[in-house]
Amino acid sequence: MRIDVLTLFPEMFEGVFGSSILGKAKERGLVSLHTVNFRDYANNKHNTVDDTPYGGGGGMVLKAEPIFGAVEDVVTRRSGAADAADEGSRPPRVILMCPQGAPFSQRKAQELAAEEHLIFICGHYEGYDERIRRHLVTDELSIGDYVLTGGELPAMVVVDAVVRLLPGVLGNETSAVRDSFSDGLLEYPHYTRPVDFRGMTVPDVLLSGHHAEIDKWRRRQSLLRTLERRPELLEGAELTPKERAWLAEQRELSAKARPSLAEGAEDGEAAGESGR
Ligand code: SAM
Repeated sequence: MRIDVLTLFPEMFEGVFGSSILGKAKERGLVSLHTVNFRDYANNKHNTVDDTPYGGGGGMVLKAEPIFGAVEDVVTRRSGAADAADEGSRPPRVILMCPQGAPFSQRKAQELAAEEHLIFICGHYEGYDERIRRHLVTDELSIGDYVLTGGELPAMVVVDAVVRLLPGVLGNETSAVRDSFSDGLLEYPHYTRPVDFRGMTVPDVLLSGHHAEIDKWRRRQSLLRTLERRPELLEGAELTPKERAWLAEQRELSAKARPSLAEGAEDGEAAGESGR
């Protein structure tokens, strides 16, 4: 996969693209990450990329020319590149980072991870010339209902979430599969050594070596955790009729009758085990 990020602050990406899992993925050739300063496409004496809005009002607007110019240049260079020719070169997804965009999610990350080429546009200023939205981009993405100063941090969030899903990027291939949201549920709790830490113990089932029982416990913990923290996710999750019935029972139990996840985990009687 190739990723190009159009930004006025390419230096912000140096640390993120060069470190940790992204840095290793780049080194191993699993992804190629590039930044493009779209000021280089300003095409005017003072290299300005913004202007005042037609109709008046406060704030500056990002001009259409430098963004169109930068995207077109990236696409032209890419279509001439050897790797694009080898891959059959599907057209890129051109993604505008924008608080008005579709909410970014794990599902969207999975969808984007199947692409060959992503181009991100990081905004600044009050807004974009509307012609960018209407005639250039394929997607508008928001990372949440709040407003940041620029699209760089949001683009980093999306790039990180996508790249870790590419084949070979994570050491353990199953870890992304089991992550929260991958199957519509939150992930189950984890424990590591020691078994007893200041009297807080690990649930017996995890020490049993009985893999079927461990899987069952983890699935129930995942269901319970989702029920407690993000019940709306359960509506879109793939559940068996048995799991739905079990969840209905759990819902009916009063908060007092049902031990909390933390208490259950410590005494080995996790709420998830009650249905075993
Ligand atoms: N006036 C715009 C509005 O109300 O929608 C907000 C502009 S914001 C100050 C500047 C830039 O930051 C945006 O163009 C976008 O690239 C980025 N940005 C800010 N918040 C974001 C979010 N939640 N998700 C994605 N991008 C965001």
